[in-house]
Amino acid sequence: MAFHEYPVTQDYRISRKVLGVGINGKVVECENRQTSEKYALKVLRDTEKARREVELHVMASGHPHIVSIHDVYKNSYNGVDCLLVVMENMKGGELFNRIQERGQKAFTEREAAGIVNEICSAVAHLHRMSIAHRDLKPENLLYCTPAASAALKLTDFGFAKKTDESEPQGLKTACFTPYYCAPEVLGTEKYDKSCDLWSIGVIMYILLCGYPPFYSQHGQPMSPGMKAKIKSGQYTFPSPEWDCVSEAAKDLIRKLLRTEPTERITIEQTMEHKWISHYRRVPDTPLFTSSNLAEQKEQWTDMQDEMEATLASMRVGPENIQIKNLGESNNKLLAKRRKGGASPIRNPHQK
Ligand code: ADP
Repeated sequence: MAFHEYPVTQDYRISRKVLGVGINGKVVECENRQTSEKYALKVLRDTEKARREVELHVMASGHPHIVSIHDVYKNSYNGVDCLLVVMENMKGGELFNRIQERGQKAFTEREAAGIVNEICSAVAHLHRMSIAHRDLKPENLLYCTPAASAALKLTDFGFAKKTDESEPQGLKTACFTPYYCAPEVLGTEKYDKSCDLWSIGVIMYILLCGYPPFYSQHGQPMSPGMKAKIKSGQYTFPSPEWDCVSEAAKDLIRKLLRTEPTERITIEQTMEHKWISHYRRVPDTPLFTSSNLAEQKEQWTDMQDEMEATLASMRVGPENIQIKNLGESNNKLLAKRRKGGASPIRNPHQK
């Protein structure tokens, strides 16, 4: 998608209505001058990071469970270059707000499975395109409309990463033959994607009980104790919330919340798990989710902070390890690569 260079205001009327505030600025409502259709407008400073966000979001756009992008403008305000992203307006709000606001009718395990299935289909689409989202959290899952049948969609590609571009060209071809594919290359791709599966595990857990698996009682964001718990994967399925939850659901959570990223299941394996592949046949057991979410409203920001901090630590993980390996390794191939730049890894079978 080419960015329009003329003012966004030629095509859209910008409203003062703020739809949400994120770390990178505001999202406001706007209206197409010709169709009077309402959209959401996200304004970003035109940086390399913002371009990556927009490009990856545009690539992923068009899937039924990813917020679609209609137009992108590059405009300048007081000498500052900005990217203006016109997205579909998600009028149904965030995932957990909706569950929390339900009245008497209990949220059920089958509904939870339907939601996780929607999230998985978005993530599978991304992973097939070699994109890791890396910021999959409740605030980034929005409903199209307030209707009960509305689709849930994933947004905010601010930390998304193309997982097949971390190494110089040439290596990608080499990767097809397992013999000489540097393990850290395969590892990095799997690692980036595995963040999304951890997130699916946490979201699925909260959907089924109304509180997160790693739980800080004191309301302190990310205490050392909490970090240790997450690292060692210490969580339980407490009574009474989990007593009636199916064994299949618990089995999938255990596979998603494995602490070792290489042991965590992939998105394809998740889609094949019976709790997802047969989500319509999951028991319609009423859950404690809505009432627990409503009761713990005050702790919700702590939970968001904790999830954000964990995702942030997961994002820096592999890059650090990789730099260390490259710097310290005595491996001859890596040494050549450090010296040689562009594409020194050749197929050892080709003379
Ligand atoms: P950031 O990258 O700065 O965190 P987000 O893209 O997550 O920004 O957007 C911030 C908030 O704006 C979201 O949490 C949501 O409440 C709201 N928002 C974002 N996109 C839309 C949209 N397409 N429609 C309606 N509200 C949106």
